[in-house]
Amino acid sequence: MPADIRSSPVRRVVLVVLDGLRPDAIQRFRLQRVASLARRGASTFRAQTVSPSITPCAMASLLTGAAPERHGIQSEHFHIPRPRGPVHPLAKELARHSLPTSFFMPQVPFLMRGIAARISTLLGLGEFRSYGQDADDVLESASKHLETQRRGLIMMHWLDADRAGHEFGWMSPEYGAAAVRMDDALGRLEKTLDLSDPGTLVIALADHGGGGATPKHHDSAHPLDTTIPVLLAGGAVVPCELGAAVSLTDVPATILWALGLARPESYAGRPLLQAFAKLPMAA
Ligand SMILES: [Zn+2]
Repeated sequence: MPADIRSSPVRRVVLVVLDGLRPDAIQRFRLQRVASLARRGASTFRAQTVSPSITPCAMASLLTGAAPERHGIQSEHFHIPRPRGPVHPLAKELARHSLPTSFFMPQVPFLMRGIAARISTLLGLGEFRSYGQDADDVLESASKHLETQRRGLIMMHWLDADRAGHEFGWMSPEYGAAAVRMDDALGRLEKTLDLSDPGTLVIALADHGGGGATPKHHDSAHPLDTTIPVLLAGGAVVPCELGAAVSLTDVPATILWALGLARPESYAGRPLLQAFAKLPMAA
């Protein structure tokens, strides 16, 4: 075993990004699957996303572990970034240890497909699929991997709540319906997984909130825009409240740690060790 790999019971991570899901929407719209996963796992409804609180920055941070000032994506402008300092994409760190990464999201607009493919190659994503519109479509396109990919990282990006938030406003009835759709998809995802199995770690989180500074957006330092839910579940996870000191950048650090891999210096976050208190390696 190489020096930078420890033994860990976690063999794969299933990561779901619930785009634009505000923590207070969970109770308001009775998102039962999210609420039950939070209760049974390690969770917080008071975590903070990166700044600025927009999807390209947050997704780049999840996929590289680096803060936006390091990975270089700091606006909505879709581009190949110029990082400030070395960046070590999560999927490349996994690939160095022969662990695969697959990524599933709704269909990318036709004119964006070329750049999306280039970015996925830069990030080292072994498999990149953009298909359909809603959470269920993305879940369907990931279903084969959920069944057969037993190692590494399976990542899904569900956009329903964010889209409804931009069109109708955060916490509007339409936003609520979209959040319920994501909740239903989470229930269907759960049925395909064995949450008592320590080999699978499930992480669900939002990339930002919304409706803080303005009703139909989320790009501000307002707490309603920056505060996100983060949930961890699986057989290796101890149910606990993770508190307010959790950052979105702790998620990629936790993924590396849970898979037993060392964390490059460019990773801004720290592993959420309290979630794994029963594992000897977390002591
Ligand atoms: Zn948005």
